[in-house]
Amino acid sequence: MNREGIVIRNTGSSFLVRLDDGSETNCRVKGNFRIKGIRTTNPVAVGDRVSVTKAADDADYITAIAPRRNYIIRRASNLSKESHILAANIDCTLLVVSIRDPFTPTTFIDRFLATAEAYAVPAALVLNKEDIWDDDDHELAEGLRILYTSIGYPVFKVSAVSGEGIGELREFLHDKTTLLAGNSGVGKSSLINALVPGAELKTGRVSDIHHTGTHTTTFSEMVPLPDGGQLIDVPGVKGFGTIGFKASEVSHYFPEIFRYGRECRYGDCKHTGEPGCAVRQALEEHLISESRFASYLSILEEIADKDKYRKPF
Ligand code: GDP
Ligand code: ZN
Repeated sequence: MNREGIVIRNTGSSFLVRLDDGSETNCRVKGNFRIKGIRTTNPVAVGDRVSVTKAADDADYITAIAPRRNYIIRRASNLSKESHILAANIDCTLLVVSIRDPFTPTTFIDRFLATAEAYAVPAALVLNKEDIWDDDDHELAEGLRILYTSIGYPVFKVSAVSGEGIGELREFLHDKTTLLAGNSGVGKSSLINALVPGAELKTGRVSDIHHTGTHTTTFSEMVPLPDGGQLIDVPGVKGFGTIGFKASEVSHYFPEIFRYGRECRYGDCKHTGEPGCAVRQALEEHLISESRFASYLSILEEIADKDKYRKPF
């Protein structure tokens, strides 16, 4: 008899599935679930909706996966040709950012947002550690809030320590499946604990793992939110890394640059500041922010560098 459920943890060799009746079972995989054209290290991902079948040896096997609405992959390692599916069927991805201790550069934020656009996953930002901001930090945070909300990304100012802003964030996350990301030290684990009281105990996390710098696995896990919805945490993963953008596509992943770029009279314009370019005009009128434009250029430069190295000598 088949039972249905959601994959909530990937331990490498097996997958923990929460069945629709609320019970959990450890499963192995039977069958070929490869994505066409992509080599992945894991056939099944956290967030996958699956069918589970009991075999003659009484063990549970994942025998079918429902079509994925979306998924996020990253390269398994720098040199690897294989990819790892971090999560599937997500409603939102949340980047945790800190203005100080540590400082998150806007290029990091913008690369993250561009990658989320490429995956067609809605993204939002959390500015954490509000409790330690001075006046300058408050001003910077408000500047970031205005900038990113004007582009269409919700921004939350919170403190995982004092609880400030957590209520509003909780409302936003209600009934959504949200993938959490953030540089180490920004307070991702603290935020999960603030949102899900007792998460640490329930999931048996070892918090030291986050600080040793040696933890390189990319096993995701799903943490249920008390009022409905769930968080997906991928310990050790900062962002998605840049995926193989083509130079001509990059502007598509910066919504405001794309918007003004459409008005550009040069059909094949890369919008890098050519005279007469509509994006340059929008920059001069402060309709596009300089920091966003700098991030856009940095991605284009990286692609140009890569292409340079790829050329035969
Ligand atoms: P992670 O590496 O992103 O999971 O970060 P942690 O949750 O482990 O937090 C890193 C450090 O920042 C710890 O010392 C936390 O106590 C601290 N921290 C996290 N959130 C806040 C916050 O809202 N305010 C302050 N002052 N410190 C925080
Ligand atoms: Zn242009």
